[in-house]
Amino acid sequence: MKFKSVKGTKDILPGEVEAWQHVERVIHRVMRDFNYREIRTPVFETTALFSRSIGELTDIVSKEMYTFTDRSEESITLKPEGTASVLRAYIQHNLGEQSQLVKVYYLGPMFRQERPQAGRLRQFHQFGAEAIGSQSALLDVEMMALALEIYRQLGIEQYELNINSVGCEKCRPKYKELLVAELTKLQDTLSPESQTRLKQNPLRVLDSKDENDKAATKNAPLMKDYLCDECSAHFTAVRQLLDTLGTKYSIDGRLVRGLDYYTKTAFEITSTALGSQDALAGGGRYDLLVEELGGKPAPGVGFAAGIERLLMVLEKSGNTPKDESGPVLFFVALDDNSLQWAFAEAATLRAKGISVELDYLGRSIKAQMREANRQHARYVIVVGENELKSGKAKLKDMLSGTETEISLQQIQSSFQV
Ligand code: AMP
Repeated sequence: MKFKSVKGTKDILPGEVEAWQHVERVIHRVMRDFNYREIRTPVFETTALFSRSIGELTDIVSKEMYTFTDRSEESITLKPEGTASVLRAYIQHNLGEQSQLVKVYYLGPMFRQERPQAGRLRQFHQFGAEAIGSQSALLDVEMMALALEIYRQLGIEQYELNINSVGCEKCRPKYKELLVAELTKLQDTLSPESQTRLKQNPLRVLDSKDENDKAATKNAPLMKDYLCDECSAHFTAVRQLLDTLGTKYSIDGRLVRGLDYYTKTAFEITSTALGSQDALAGGGRYDLLVEELGGKPAPGVGFAAGIERLLMVLEKSGNTPKDESGPVLFFVALDDNSLQWAFAEAATLRAKGISVELDYLGRSIKAQMREANRQHARYVIVVGENELKSGKAKLKDMLSGTETEISLQQIQSSFQV
């Protein structure tokens, strides 16, 4: 075979796509219940949008983006995440002027050139939400509740919610200095990757997966213990609201997430049903990002969740929805005339919303019956010269196996949506 899908990308085939459609339906429904409206942004943007928002030194920007120069010599990048594009659109279209609080959601493909492994693709799909225009901790918790409600409605019960506060521009710089001073003392015991991070993005040393790093940084200072009064009050409010909702959570002082733009709340939802790539969703507050991207200052909070990971959890728990329903009606036609008649009859039924199939391959009756069965058709009507003449045909119920007679004129009224 000459052509294959590119490494790290996947086809979603018939038989698999039904689970996706089910998940997408639940996402749209729950988003609507929480009053978030859909926004669709382009698949690619100018590269600077991402380097400015996500941060030059993050893994995503420094080594994972699909960036190319187009024919107009402009640097373009395939979206590695959704927030930057949504905020670009929010600023570009002055959405903040139409409404003080803008609540939007998205769903679509994202692209990162990571090393492919289970749960990690180069084209993957995320859904996510953003609420722009309010500092209220209610919205931080609404983001968590929104993601968890989608999981609940899909039957996912195995998850953990971890929260942290990564501070703000007032308290983080001082803490960062302290952290760097402490980590520099341990520098020689850290992994090469953490040594680089210490110089470029010191907070991320704390979420290293390396066991030695974990042990070495066991007593390192954590941001949550050095919050300013405002961040501390906000973090308390988030925890109280989670308690009010009865949502279980853990505080993980090492949770920093891989993007630079977070302020105050950061959270992650993980699942033990996943392997080493156990993050189902992540999010947090980004009170400075709109301004950073050139908009009028507006606080915001959001989350993003992977759809492939969600489907992996559904599959592990045996909850993958299967849609094996076939067409409602399959016409088995015995000759060309009958096939033409069935073709027209099918068009009228389809226009009413009834799913109808017929034979396009000139198969024998037996083969057509077999095909109707293979496709899980609910009913079969057999038509030939005699049936067209007499105006009556056999209607077979494929579930019970019973056969009845149906008048051809009554077909349209017998099948209703
Ligand atoms: P992030 O934007 O990195 O916080 O990712 C948010 C969520 O998207 C993660 O929790 C995963 O569920 C999913 N995700 C991120 N990167 C990938 C990837 N390369 N392949 C599949 N899913 C991913």
